[in-house]
Amino acid sequence: MNSEKAGKVYLVGGGCGNPEFLTIRGKKLLSRCDTVVYDALVNPALLAYAPENCERIYVGKRAANHALPQDEINALLVRLAKEGKDVVRLKGGDPYVFGRGGEEGVALHKAGIAFEEVPGITSVIGGLAYAGIPITHRDCASSFQVVTGHLKNDAAHLDWKVLAATKGTLVFLMGMKNIEKITKSLIENGMDPKTPAAVVREASTPRQETVVGELENIAEKAAHLSAPALIVIGKVVGLREDLRFFDNRPFFGKRFVVTRSRAQASKLVEKIEEEGGATVMYPTIRIQPVDSEMERLKKAIGHIGDYSHLILTSVNGVALFFEALADCRKDARALAGLTVTAIGKATAGALKKHGVTPDIVPKQFVGEALVDALAPELSPSDRILMPRSKNARAYVMEALSKICEVDEIKIYETLREDRTDVDVPALLKAHEVDYITFTSSTTARYFAEKIGPDCAALMKESGAKCASIGPKTSEQLKKLGLPVDIQAKTYTIDGLVEAIKEDCINAH
Ligand code: SAH
Repeated sequence: MNSEKAGKVYLVGGGCGNPEFLTIRGKKLLSRCDTVVYDALVNPALLAYAPENCERIYVGKRAANHALPQDEINALLVRLAKEGKDVVRLKGGDPYVFGRGGEEGVALHKAGIAFEEVPGITSVIGGLAYAGIPITHRDCASSFQVVTGHLKNDAAHLDWKVLAATKGTLVFLMGMKNIEKITKSLIENGMDPKTPAAVVREASTPRQETVVGELENIAEKAAHLSAPALIVIGKVVGLREDLRFFDNRPFFGKRFVVTRSRAQASKLVEKIEEEGGATVMYPTIRIQPVDSEMERLKKAIGHIGDYSHLILTSVNGVALFFEALADCRKDARALAGLTVTAIGKATAGALKKHGVTPDIVPKQFVGEALVDALAPELSPSDRILMPRSKNARAYVMEALSKICEVDEIKIYETLREDRTDVDVPALLKAHEVDYITFTSSTTARYFAEKIGPDCAALMKESGAKCASIGPKTSEQLKKLGLPVDIQAKTYTIDGLVEAIKEDCINAH
């Protein structure tokens, strides 16, 4: 904060709905601002780009509560800037499309505050696109009009004759309360009642819903849809069936509970979301380093030159090994004389991030393959350092110990994660979960423990399906009295997602 020099205000369009619509410029400004002032239409996920100590001020409407009046928002922006703060004023869609960005810009200009506008993807164009409706098309609309449906006292201030006569596309924003009045006025002023029309609610989010009809019946057909929604009228609506790409994906409208640990869930979450699904993180396991074993590892690192081989069998193992290395004030160079083996692709990838390319990576991701790949390289004079999980199978240790000395150090264990942000039992009760993914038998066991003694009954009542990554996990689910509705054919994350996709398609 600098009270002598005023800050700058950035009017940033956050895009409509999908958090990936934020521009690179917007993200850059957000990541270095002092204060962010945002309203209801902004996807809260965008706030994660702001620095942790950045002040976050909400000025939108909350249930039963009114939004901050516009002149107070203007005054707030001026005051914050005068305090020396750089402010991002974050808005849904584009700031200058019914966003009052212009009013705020003028107020800033009058107060002598520097500002900049960052355009955003407006719902008018981007939102319709996600419903498969192009705002123009050479064959049927060579112009468009964007109209406010927030009709102040009556509909008199709009020129309905001109609107009704248009051959282009009409888009009404903020129009759901007045949809009947809007459609009636257009028909009364001569527009063909059979003109194609649609309403798109919460465009580009997992909650998107689109209703298609005609001018004369769209008000009735879409009566159940609440704001924020777009009303679109014109022939372009007819292109939707050809241009749909978003709300026809296999997982669209489905909710998934992901039971993996927070650290490991991202790949699965991304794949589900890529196919259109919504995800709820419900981590059931967490990785806990074992302090005494970490101390042992550090001792071993102290004389790392005595080892000829290092074996790493998990991404967690790699992370903790390099933590211990750093605590010993060493880095990757300490491994110069060692042959490094990684159990599989993910572990090899984690090693590469630390600048180490493993010498040996077995083709299959199992202990047997690791022993087969490594054993021919070993002689009795070798010495192996193998930091890994307490829960790992004994096989690798037993097989390699027959050839040479192996120091197995059990640096971490897998424990039940009890913290959670989401009330999954409540979601289950409300029938709001479609699939629960299980990627190991441990996640299955701890899921049942977390939900509690009535887990099996609750699952049955909920209608949620259990999707298992492979036979070991399925066996555990059955033991717990949980259904195995889906089992992956190949026992990987990709295989799991494929199997669920098949189930979705069959259910249609
Ligand atoms: N500046 C915004 C519009 C603000 S006015 C923009 O450029 O999109 C608020 C109106 O925008 C809502 O009432 C609704 O009509 C529309 N709107 C905004 N986001 C939307 C979304 N994701 N889906 C449907 N309509 C949306």
